[in-house]
Amino acid sequence: MRTLQTSKAPTTGQFLSIWRRERSFRVGRTLCYGAVFLSAITFGADLFYGAGPFVIGADVLLFAGCLLSLHWVRSSPPPPYYWVPAFAAFWMSCLPFFWSTGGLNSPYFGVCLAALYVIGTILDSKSRSIAYFAFSFLHIPAFLLIELYHPLAREPSFPLGLSFAVNALNFTVVFMCVHAVLRTEGELAEEFAGHYRRLAMTQDELRTREAQLVEAQSIAKIGSWEWDMESGALAWSDELFKIFEIDPRSFAPSFDAYLRRIKPPGADEVRSVIESSIATGGEFVFEHGIETEHGDKYILGRGRVVMNERGAATKVLGTAQDITDRKRIESQLKRARSELEERVRERTLELENANQAKMQFLANMSHEIRTPMNSIIGFTDLLASEAHSPEEESEYLSRIRVNGHRLMRLIDDILDLSKFEAGRIPLQRSSFSLRSLLEGVVGSFLPEFRSKGLHLDLSFQDRNQPFIFSDADRIGQVVTNLLNNAIKFSDQGAIRVLAGQRIEGDSAHVTIDVIDSGLGIAPEDQKKLFRPFSQGDSSIARKFGGTGLGLALSRHIACALGGALELEASHPGKGSHFRFEFAAPLAPDEVSEGGVVGRLGPPVVGPSGLRGARILLAEDSPDNALLIARFLAPLGVEVDAVTDGAQAVEAVKLKNYEGILMDIQMPGMDGLEATRRIRRIGYEKPIIALTAHALASEAEKSMQAGCSLHLTKPITKADLVSALTDQLRFRPPSGVRAEPRIEMDS
Ligand code: ADP
Repeated sequence: MRTLQTSKAPTTGQFLSIWRRERSFRVGRTLCYGAVFLSAITFGADLFYGAGPFVIGADVLLFAGCLLSLHWVRSSPPPPYYWVPAFAAFWMSCLPFFWSTGGLNSPYFGVCLAALYVIGTILDSKSRSIAYFAFSFLHIPAFLLIELYHPLAREPSFPLGLSFAVNALNFTVVFMCVHAVLRTEGELAEEFAGHYRRLAMTQDELRTREAQLVEAQSIAKIGSWEWDMESGALAWSDELFKIFEIDPRSFAPSFDAYLRRIKPPGADEVRSVIESSIATGGEFVFEHGIETEHGDKYILGRGRVVMNERGAATKVLGTAQDITDRKRIESQLKRARSELEERVRERTLELENANQAKMQFLANMSHEIRTPMNSIIGFTDLLASEAHSPEEESEYLSRIRVNGHRLMRLIDDILDLSKFEAGRIPLQRSSFSLRSLLEGVVGSFLPEFRSKGLHLDLSFQDRNQPFIFSDADRIGQVVTNLLNNAIKFSDQGAIRVLAGQRIEGDSAHVTIDVIDSGLGIAPEDQKKLFRPFSQGDSSIARKFGGTGLGLALSRHIACALGGALELEASHPGKGSHFRFEFAAPLAPDEVSEGGVVGRLGPPVVGPSGLRGARILLAEDSPDNALLIARFLAPLGVEVDAVTDGAQAVEAVKLKNYEGILMDIQMPGMDGLEATRRIRRIGYEKPIIALTAHALASEAEKSMQAGCSLHLTKPITKADLVSALTDQLRFRPPSGVRAEPRIEMDS
């Protein structure tokens, strides 16, 4: 602490005077005891000898005086000038000794005076040696005068024996006194040495504590200060200089200097906080900034005002902590919290929107499912209730089939979307001509174009249209979605499909623009266009139907192809322009596109290949069992139907089947377990899983159980026949397991 205050430790002079006072007090007490004994001896000797009343009276007075002195010295706390009676008692008890030893005539007289001088000087805590020297020396003329006018001491009054005995006793008492004084001195020295040792230890401890304090201040970045209000001095700890980045040699701490370092407007606030604490005597806390060479810092100040007994402030003690790091973290936390809150708000909004979209989706789904269902049920009722001409029947059946396919498309879209979102859609690449693909897709919309009176314009930017190697089905699906929307949201005008195929090295960069002149999309709806289940205005959704899945799914497909799908432009009332682009490697020239579009290729052998085949059908639904039996019966296939897995296992044991059609979800033993058991008993011919479970994970389970193919319901007759023919025709020779294949109609 660089302090301007004076130290409160005792000076050498003060220390000496404490020592002397203590010493004179203790020695004085011992001498008083000695004086009491000496005067008692003198009194006793005089009585024994039969001295006159003057001497006896003087002895009594002397004894009483010594007792009084002892009492005076023993009182606690010791009164001022307590050594005076001790010295007086000692002196008085010495007087008879002087006479009895021969006064001035005695060779010991000078020694006695010297002793008196020494004792007085030691007893007086102020050690006034000249005064005691003068007092002792004055005995010489005093005794001379006494000798002259009253030659009392010339002859010893006592007989020699008594004098010897008295003096021996006197010397014994003096010896004991001196011994006691020496012991007292020793004790005193011991005591002071103890004090000194304790002091030294305390100083060591203080030094250690001070070092710890400095270390702690430096670690905690807390400096301290002390303002002595009487002297006006302000003392700063080393750490405070470090915090303020000030060189202690070039700065004299003062309250004003401190305030000048504070960044405005903090100084006024700090001043008023400290001043009001000084007025009331309380504690204070404040925060302020300072400017230093290495940038701005933040300081947390705390302090306390020390008051004297009259209630006036004498000192202000304070600490200043560098809280720059804390402030920085606080502000980062604050920023992070507000960002988090913002994100939570956005997320909540998104969730609300998603929830709204979900409700809208459910409503749309219900609409989208009920509409074809209405046709299917209605036309089925019609067919069942009345007799119709063959043309009418064929018309009804065609509408039932179309609506059934519409329903399937809807389910496929939802499944596709979930698979894309899970990142589990494998692309099936093959070589094909983009031109043929687009002509096919656009061509399938001709009836809609015609019925709405829309003009169609399909054009190719480049003459050269080499084959590309990509997933034709998925590309067709995207264009179908875009065209569907374009037709749905346009009442008049033209729809243009513009295809470009730019060749770059051995790959083609394909762009397909679909431009309509229909309703257009409002700017606020454009942002959510590609989100699943989101549709534009709900009234539009109600009017035009749809699920809000098409664009989301199409964008997923575009991304899976390594391309993009964007809304290039759209203006309400004027139309929209979507661009689908992707890159695809060029296919070798000789590859033709025949037969590559479509999931299931044509049957490898004709249906006649199935004639006479014996098939086991495990299916718990009687309707499905009947349907499949009806599909296969005309082809000469013999179908044995069972309704659960356990029956299937038993049937396999009894008859030799060319293949098994296995439903997966059945009561009792399910299709997976039945397949495992059938495989365990050594059946190696095809087992085709035929199930309503369409997810890839379900297909994997079937294959793991031992199925050779996984087909999903609903299945058309053509697809079933094709798959069955395929499996039975390419059955490997006995003992070789067929390579499992997954065929999913989604
Ligand atoms: P939906 O099955 O509802 O058509 P989409 O994902 O294909 O689902 O489209 C989402 C929404 O985008 C539509 O409901 C419609 O509001 C808007 N939209 C898409 N294409 C067009 C377009 N060509 N013209 C106007 N609006 C469109």
